[in-house]
Amino acid sequence: QLRVMDKTVVLYPSLGVGHLTPMVQLAKLFVRHGVAVTVALVEPQVESPSFYAAAARAAAANPSVTFHVLPPPAEAAEEAPRGRFDYLRLMDAPLRDFLRSLTAVHALVLDMFCAGSLDVAAELGIPAYFFFASGASFLAVFLNLPSVAASMGRSFAELGDAPFRLPVAPPFKATDLPQVILDNDEASKAILRMAEIIAESSGILINTFEPLEARAVRDLRDGLCIPGRPTPPVYCIGPLVTEGGDKKHECLEWLDAQPDSSVTFLSFGSLGTFSKKQLQEIAVGLERSGQRFLWVVRSPLGDEQKIGDPLPEPDLDALLPEGFLERTKNQGLVVRSWAPQVEVLVHRATGAFMTHCGWNSTLEGITAGLPLLCWPLYAEQRLNKVFIVEEMKLGVVMMGYDEEVVKAEEVEAKVKWVMDSEGGRALRELAVAEKSKAAQALSEGGSSRAAFVEFLNNL
Ligand code: UDP
Repeated sequence: QLRVMDKTVVLYPSLGVGHLTPMVQLAKLFVRHGVAVTVALVEPQVESPSFYAAAARAAAANPSVTFHVLPPPAEAAEEAPRGRFDYLRLMDAPLRDFLRSLTAVHALVLDMFCAGSLDVAAELGIPAYFFFASGASFLAVFLNLPSVAASMGRSFAELGDAPFRLPVAPPFKATDLPQVILDNDEASKAILRMAEIIAESSGILINTFEPLEARAVRDLRDGLCIPGRPTPPVYCIGPLVTEGGDKKHECLEWLDAQPDSSVTFLSFGSLGTFSKKQLQEIAVGLERSGQRFLWVVRSPLGDEQKIGDPLPEPDLDALLPEGFLERTKNQGLVVRSWAPQVEVLVHRATGAFMTHCGWNSTLEGITAGLPLLCWPLYAEQRLNKVFIVEEMKLGVVMMGYDEEVVKAEEVEAKVKWVMDSEGGRALRELAVAEKSKAAQALSEGGSSRAAFVEFLNNL
């Protein structure tokens, strides 16, 4: 039972669609429990259409949540563009001013990338918590890494592909760690410092449900992650999944005309892109599989571009094999750049999800009861793939993820397998069972509901 109803919290989600959207769901959860919430937004330094669009959608769809855009830091105008984390550090001044302007703030909830702002909370005497935008399994590894790095004396990259063993994870390859952590350089030190700061917070909210990651949650609670000190309390309050995309999108009408559980949905996060060569391999594989598909295709990155840079709408005729769209018009649909993913995943016609294993996509696939074909691309997705395949048993891996391209043969084989084999059917049954466990966790008396009330009571 909830004791106090007069609380105000400020949520600070950093940048990135995948960090903002679950934080907005968290805001709604607070509001449902009678807690006033303000989401403090950072204006992206570089033009970021998907972030702006996601922020605008969130604000329009959630009038009960207050959104406040922090003014850009004074230094930003004078100085050359900086990296994302340096920029977020500059935002500490506007954040401090904003928090001071509010009469009573009971807690500041930070995204992991805003870890540096824990100092601001400490200075103002506000309890600070984290909302971890990935799962408990990755959190356990992340909190463990600073001590491992300190005792290793070399970079993780140097460990190569040999099995890497931590006390808090199944064996994986060191090269499956996020790219930014692999080199023993300033960037990796900055990221690992974030793990140390998270360990100093008053508690960590995790977007997961306990039965999904029972082993990792136990490791966190048993203090296996940070040698010599307890891990802050963890609260598994998810899965918080965004709903309410574009309900009229043409691809939903197309799905309406397809048989139940017959379509493989291919989508690779808010930032995933492929080379033209890779797009062609996927196209050939899909066509040869003979299975129905719905595929979100984005333009390849240009030579000078890096992940996250704005991209033009893709020219499908130029990118895909000649005649592909015409030949597959009764078999599949290609969507340019962006699809209403959650609506697609929960549609009765969708039967499998080829995903880059971003944590939001993973939860969206699981709550829709779908088997996952795991094709990790960036960030912590390679580790998520390990947890999904080895521990949750909810997916299989696209083996070519670690090679130059995933070949057409593998796309064909895996799509056929998941849609039309005994193994595929068994995987689907496990996925459907997990969907009910997720619903149960969120329902009256469920573990995630209880965890959130416990968190509010501890505020
Ligand atoms: N998404 C979407 N349509 C797309 C691609 C992505 O709605 O065509 C949404 C997806 O539903 C998820 C988010 O964007 O909520 C991506 O978050 P995730 O953590 O999976 O990956 P990230 O983009 O952070 O790598």
